[in-house]
Amino acid sequence: MSAVLAATGQRLRDHPAIGAEGLRRLGQGGPVGLAGAGAVGARLARALAPAGVPLWIVDRGRVEPPNVGTQLYGLDDVGAPKVEALRRHLAGLRPGSAIKTRWGDIRRVGARALGRCRVLVGCLDSLRDRAWLAQMAAWLEVPYLDLALDGTGQTLYGRAAGFLPSERTACPCCGWDEAIWAEVASETAGPACGAMTGAESEPPATLALPGLAEIIAGLGGVQVLRLLLGEDRHRVLDREWRINLSSGRLSESALSRSARCRLDHRPWRQVFVDRAPSALTVGELFDLAARLLGGEAALEVPGEALVVAAGCPACRRPRATSHLRSALPACPDCGRRLVPLAEAIHDRLRPDEVRHVLDRSWKELGLVSGGVVVAEGSGVRSAFVFEEEGEPTR
Ligand SMILES: [Zn+2]
Ligand SMILES: [Zn+2]
Repeated sequence: MSAVLAATGQRLRDHPAIGAEGLRRLGQGGPVGLAGAGAVGARLARALAPAGVPLWIVDRGRVEPPNVGTQLYGLDDVGAPKVEALRRHLAGLRPGSAIKTRWGDIRRVGARALGRCRVLVGCLDSLRDRAWLAQMAAWLEVPYLDLALDGTGQTLYGRAAGFLPSERTACPCCGWDEAIWAEVASETAGPACGAMTGAESEPPATLALPGLAEIIAGLGGVQVLRLLLGEDRHRVLDREWRINLSSGRLSESALSRSARCRLDHRPWRQVFVDRAPSALTVGELFDLAARLLGGEAALEVPGEALVVAAGCPACRRPRATSHLRSALPACPDCGRRLVPLAEAIHDRLRPDEVRHVLDRSWKELGLVSGGVVVAEGSGVRSAFVFEEEGEPTR
């Protein structure tokens, strides 16, 4: 058995672009953060795992019967979280390799964990999730690879693109038009109020041919290895590869920054807080920010807002709250999820406007483990990145 173990990875050691040194570089340091374990994401993980690349895979779905045979999963996996089934499939590919998983929404992953990744890869159906992850990658200055294919089955089209957004370079949303942003807005709004009980519905399973997913995952896998090995980064970042077998076109192009892009391309000045959200109050962070920025600061949780009053769609009764929008509690009478009242939403927090929450911890407000709060004052912006609660989610 030890001879078998020693021989694993031999082909990669023999490879002229990798070798023993390259193999060491692939295996050391932060993980590749992989969002989405569906048709493309799971195959990408399978392409990277044999090279000993540490992986951190996040997906909120379970294996459904239509996934069997079209994704990597088998009948035995039906019902299991995709990340758990995937971990089982990857286990034998390279003994001892570091593969961690998280079953949940990518948007509930804290900045601390995302910032540890050497590369982030989005293999997501949801435009809203892709925009969110691309924005986090830009703020955290982590290279981002976006992989997508036509899941309607109408064309044999897929693409991959690499980014490290800055003031001058492109981000994944630079090419998005009004129609795409309208789709993002409709995803964010979700189904009509009252129909929801808090559970998110899964998008329909992809109709893309499995081979197309293999192509895009393989393309992504090669580009991730090039990013990690370092020498060819300039051939991966700010570039896009498109495959359209319906029209017979394969192409590569350079990407450039759009002046009309809605994403913020300015990276954060990060300040690492040595406490978890449960161990710091809102008031304490206001004080910390004022000291650091040299004057009163406004605080903001990216992509969130503080909701101070909400209503129950069923009981039709307003209720006082002090939670971030994504962490609104259920109605104590009927259990439905509360919805924020329009006039009771604070995007930016100022100390005199949120006096009633100054002694609450950030966790009580609903900030995720290892989350981030951005402080802005006197024209300076700093991002306070919290520690993770308990054991880091590695
Ligand atoms: Zn952009
Ligand atoms: Zn109610």
